[in-house]
Amino acid sequence: MASLIHCPHCGIRPKEEFSIRGDASLVRPDPAASDEAWNDYVHIRSNPRGRYHEHWQHGAGCRRWLVVERDTFTHEVFSVTDAASVARKAGR
Ligand SMILES: [Zn+2]
Repeated sequence: MASLIHCPHCGIRPKEEFSIRGDASLVRPDPAASDEAWNDYVHIRSNPRGRYHEHWQHGAGCRRWLVVERDTFTHEVFSVTDAASVARKAGR
């Protein structure tokens, strides 16, 4: 895994300062959605090989949530973006 992560707020930092919080592509269902939709959102996860978007939190730094695009096989990091700006662009 890449040992250095470029936080958009703090600069280049060691990966140990971050916590991986899971799939960043999940979209929260409507509160009135079916139990099945909520079950899938809360419990069902894919395990892809290749490029993947994950939520990471910079807990030992700015404490911001980030979207990190990395390869799950090689651990190469392609991009790091503030999660709030990603959500705004997606209209969430
Ligand atoms: Zn940071």
